[in-house]
Amino acid sequence: MRNVLFIISGPSGAGKGTLVKGLMEKRPDLFLSVSVTTRSPRPGEKEGEAYYFVTKEEFERRIADGEFLEYNNHFENYYGTRLADVKRELKKHSVILEIEPCGGFKAAERVKRAGEYAVVLIMITPPSLLALEERIRHRGKETEEQMRERRERVAFELAQAEKYDYTILNDDLETATAELIAIVDKETNKD
Ligand code: 5GP
Repeated sequence: MRNVLFIISGPSGAGKGTLVKGLMEKRPDLFLSVSVTTRSPRPGEKEGEAYYFVTKEEFERRIADGEFLEYNNHFENYYGTRLADVKRELKKHSVILEIEPCGGFKAAERVKRAGEYAVVLIMITPPSLLALEERIRHRGKETEEQMRERRERVAFELAQAEKYDYTILNDDLETATAELIAIVDKETNKD
């Protein structure tokens, strides 16, 4: 067994969250990192579970303090991964970061450079862009402009898949979850 930093990305609406939940049920030994964000909590999101919610000023202070392994400004909000959490937890078990590709590459770079832990990048893709748009439309009250920005963002994120170690097509939830678990099992079982 080895401790691996898994970076899981995919456009919002691709079903990342559900797949990761399925993975965590099967592999409760993994640590799912909780990010810090300046965006407002969505209904049902609890402090310290979905995210640590902070103000922009607080986030910027933390950037200056070097708190983050990586951070990014995404849809006008900051999102960041706490370095101390990842360092502490990687000593004990594998760690999952559910983050977008720019931050993912930064985190991967830094951890690989330190040379102590393996990094595995996994991209989750939606079955079709049309299906993705449907899901996003159902989810919220997005304006046409916001939808256009999202579409560009999705195209950008999917274009990063070739730099990922694995890509999982999420057209069937059960199959995709099984695939994710198999990848994690395989990678953590290496010496
Ligand atoms: P949401 O606002 O829908 O929860 O997340 C928006 C995007 O931010 C998602 O693509 C999510 O993976 C990404 N994200 C969440 N936490 C982090 C983080 O700590 N760092 C980076 N770079 N992206 C994050």
